[in-house]
Amino acid sequence: MAQLNPRQREAVHYIDGPCLVLAGAGSGKTSVITRKIAYLIEECGMAARHIAAVTFTNKAAREMKERVTSLVKGPASKGLTVSTFHNLGLNIIRREHKTLGYKSNFSIFDAEDARALLKELMMKEGDFNTDHLDMVQNQISNWKNDLTTPDAAISKANSSGEEMMALVYKRYNQALKAYNAVDFDDLILAPVQLFIDHPDVLERWQKKIRYLLVDEYQDTNSSQYLLVKQLVGGRGGLTVVGDDDQSIYAWRGARPENMSLLKKDYPSLNLIKLEQNYRSTSRILKTANHLIAHNPHEFDKALWSEMGMGEPLRLIRCANEEAEAERVATEIFLQRQRRQIKFSDFAILYRGNHQARLLEMKLQQHQIPYKLSGGQSFFGRTEIKDIMAYLRLIMNTDDDNAFLRVINTPRRQIGTGTLESLSRYATEREVSLFDATQEMGIQSHIPKKNLERIQRFAHWIGQVRDNGENDPIGAVREMIEDIDYEGWLHQNASSPKVAEGRMGNVWFLVDSIKWIIERFEEDGEEASLEAAVAKLLLRDMLERQEEEEEMDQVQMLTLHASKGLEYPHVFLVGMEEDLLPHRTSIEEDNVEEERRLAYVGITRAKRTLTMTLAGKRKMYGEIMETTPSRFIDELPEEDLEREGFGDHCPDLNQSRGEETLDNILSMFDDL
Ligand code: ATP
Ligand code: MG
Repeated sequence: MAQLNPRQREAVHYIDGPCLVLAGAGSGKTSVITRKIAYLIEECGMAARHIAAVTFTNKAAREMKERVTSLVKGPASKGLTVSTFHNLGLNIIRREHKTLGYKSNFSIFDAEDARALLKELMMKEGDFNTDHLDMVQNQISNWKNDLTTPDAAISKANSSGEEMMALVYKRYNQALKAYNAVDFDDLILAPVQLFIDHPDVLERWQKKIRYLLVDEYQDTNSSQYLLVKQLVGGRGGLTVVGDDDQSIYAWRGARPENMSLLKKDYPSLNLIKLEQNYRSTSRILKTANHLIAHNPHEFDKALWSEMGMGEPLRLIRCANEEAEAERVATEIFLQRQRRQIKFSDFAILYRGNHQARLLEMKLQQHQIPYKLSGGQSFFGRTEIKDIMAYLRLIMNTDDDNAFLRVINTPRRQIGTGTLESLSRYATEREVSLFDATQEMGIQSHIPKKNLERIQRFAHWIGQVRDNGENDPIGAVREMIEDIDYEGWLHQNASSPKVAEGRMGNVWFLVDSIKWIIERFEEDGEEASLEAAVAKLLLRDMLERQEEEEEMDQVQMLTLHASKGLEYPHVFLVGMEEDLLPHRTSIEEDNVEEERRLAYVGITRAKRTLTMTLAGKRKMYGEIMETTPSRFIDELPEEDLEREGFGDHCPDLNQSRGEETLDNILSMFDDL
């Protein structure tokens, strides 16, 4: 196991008060957190159940938990909480749902559910267009992250437009409550509000969580900041680590100034800086330092490394985006052979998901296995969404979205007329669609046969729910067979093979539920289907990536998703104006956040970094000449090996590129 350096050791051993580790990329901040957890358990004798560590993504949480279990042997780490902020919030809501006014089976609305609900509310107001919908959804999220209540938003509104949004916000919250549901932002907001209103509940939680550790602190938003402050109270059992230069979520409400706020809130704060980087070669590090020096700095940092000079960084300019993708694929193919390394040693990082399409195609052409993070995820698949909707409805019959998704999947001959009557009835009496099926009698305008069908469905849902109490997994399996979901898949799939693949996913989902329930049992927690489904829903929302992670695949991910991770060989593509920095950020004069994003990208690399750009690129439907990113001029020229700049460039590939490029792109446009 690696020895800690003196500064790291100080951070790990300091438990007399709150502690902030402020340090650049790869300096061992995350390592300090895992080692400190081990120290608290093994040296300070603190029970693991009193320690909570919070990270930014599920992937990071999983990795952290693994690292701790490898450090702390045996059962001593049992009961430790390592989770994302949202997961921690979910646990608090689950335990305190009564005080919060939710039933135990509350649903979690993901962005898509929330959007559907908002759309419905806005249509009622007679104001609906997609742009507006996005704006309102964003604004509500901002309000929630800043702890602004609907009433406060209404009274602060300066224009009729703002007032309208604030009103929608109010109705939206009311609707969520009626559905017995919380949205993603509520997972943090509800606990914070609960702790404000009920100091006794807060005290209970403070007794439970005696030591709190937070990774990637620079990306916390206001409500997360407050949640940390509440849980820590006046006791100072807090270690946070972060890097202001890696703050890349301001657009989602993150507030890097939370770092400096800490000093005000905790005057006794022990500030520790780490300066040795253990990840990258000196050249990579120097390049990153050069770039980030162009941003203003509140805290000065100077990173150095003993990993050797390393190879020069490469900057390759290709004729167009097809040539760029081709080049990246062939480089990976050749370097893997030359260096005798694995595909999984490579990562391709890009600014926007749309950049992945051509790369994917080229990797496929060269038969290079790859893993795309953030693409079509397991939980994004139709079959999984269908079954999850059944489970959601079974757990919470007030969940109208789930009701609508499953009512005709598979077909039950319930027509739109019937559904409209049902929906009208439900709206008038302010009950859920499910309850409406039970209440609605012959006097409704629904033909008797249809009414019977719909009531049979509702009755059956109730039965599955009852069965689930004794034998959760058996009930889920039986449910899937009852509806003949497999038959339905076969009717709808293009081939039997496709249908079988989809059915395989469904059984995988059932197995996952089984594993979760077994885990709950082991940890002595409530082992119900309800709890397992809540856990799955959250996992679905947070980690729409992963799977097949250990396989030998090139990793493809956005710069945002790459935070905290490291790879031996990194390709950073699209080093062009309008891409990195992104056009919107240029227009909004927010290039500093883009520079931090580039900094995050560069510092993921351990041994080599290759940056690429295309001379021409199809943007906004037109092939355009590009301009190299301004960030290129901010890198140390002496450490760069340029290729493809100037008149003479051997690999420009002009002749084949252009006409095929258009063909290929138009092919994608059709998808
Ligand atoms: P980032 O800012 O990107 O999140 P970080 O500061 O969290 O980076 P870590 O991921 O903790 O850095 O560490 C970077 C690498 O350095 C890891 O591979 C880690 O194992 C290694 N490392 C950390 N501390 C030491 C040490 N004292 N000796 C040797 N290796 C170390
Ligand atoms: Mg880290």
